[in-house]
Amino acid sequence: MTGMEITEVRVYQVDLPLKEGRYSWADGKFVDAFDCTVVVVETAGGAKGYGEVCPLGPFYLPAFGKGARAGMAEVVPHLLGLDATELGCVNLAMDRALLGHPYVKSALDMACWDLAGKRAGMPVCDLLGGRHGTAVALYRAISQEAPEQMAEKIAGYRDEGYTKFQLKVGGDPVDDVARIRASRNVLDRGEILVADANTGWLMHEAARVCDAVSDVDVYIEQPCRTYEECLTIRRRTARPFVLDENVDGLHMLLRAHGDGAMDVINLKISKVGGLTKARQIRDLCVELGVAMTIEDSWGGDIITAAIAHLAHSTPERLRFSSTDFNSYVTVDTASGAPQRDRGYMSAGTAPGLGVEVDENALGAPEAVYTAA
Ligand code: MG
Repeated sequence: MTGMEITEVRVYQVDLPLKEGRYSWADGKFVDAFDCTVVVVETAGGAKGYGEVCPLGPFYLPAFGKGARAGMAEVVPHLLGLDATELGCVNLAMDRALLGHPYVKSALDMACWDLAGKRAGMPVCDLLGGRHGTAVALYRAISQEAPEQMAEKIAGYRDEGYTKFQLKVGGDPVDDVARIRASRNVLDRGEILVADANTGWLMHEAARVCDAVSDVDVYIEQPCRTYEECLTIRRRTARPFVLDENVDGLHMLLRAHGDGAMDVINLKISKVGGLTKARQIRDLCVELGVAMTIEDSWGGDIITAAIAHLAHSTPERLRFSSTDFNSYVTVDTASGAPQRDRGYMSAGTAPGLGVEVDENALGAPEAVYTAA
């Protein structure tokens, strides 16, 4: 007995409304308030670990808020009694209990990393490899609107200190070309612009946009729905290329790297099943020279902290960008999370993830699982 045996898991549902009111992307998709799940994993010794998962609505990845909590009902009974700090054993137990559904496991794995850090007296960042540089550069996602409004938003966020911007495109190709040009016009050399179609273009639409911006300093992210379509576009354009939705695990990373299918990947913690699996992919990308946007699908304070620890422990050159989701939403899920300083954030120095959840503020848990 180490005292780190899991005795109870409490699952909370939290709505995270957006400061901007609405977040819109390809295909007319939008979200007004995110359905977020917070987990508290308690051990025999009384330590608490915190985790969070927040899908980008039910139609971005094969993931949805209610699904996270339904999946936990399958997985959590298999974790009770396990040592939370034995992350390999915890992940094996989750994968044996439920095939697939990586996002369900992400919050639980995150909470176990929090506990491992607390037990070691080390921030998760140090357990993941150590701190590189003083701060992590952030990008700002620009919700899909008319080209002038998007350029105006970029100018505003630029004044706040951001130097990297991700435009939500994936709409009408002519409008999208206008969005890209208007946005690039308000940026300086050295500032980064990504046009993220979020699978929204057909191949002929992607080809038109890529051709029309061939003189623009812009990255193209996930133009089409399938990997094969994206690879076709990749081979027709000289723009730097980011894959996101299709790179959902290590096997797809290996395949895409073998095909030379991208220059950068978007590594989302919950898309691949948690920090344990994200670290594996991160370490391979470092070795392969594939730069990464290190983030999650969405989230609040706990996810922002987890992103900061994973990103800050990644060599700076391979860190393309990250996201401070807690600055987009109106609700706090925890105290102690990284706060944006201009366009940067830093991993905390307290043990674990360095966040404290006020469970009273979350209302009653939706589910409580207790060891017999
Ligand atoms: Mg993306």
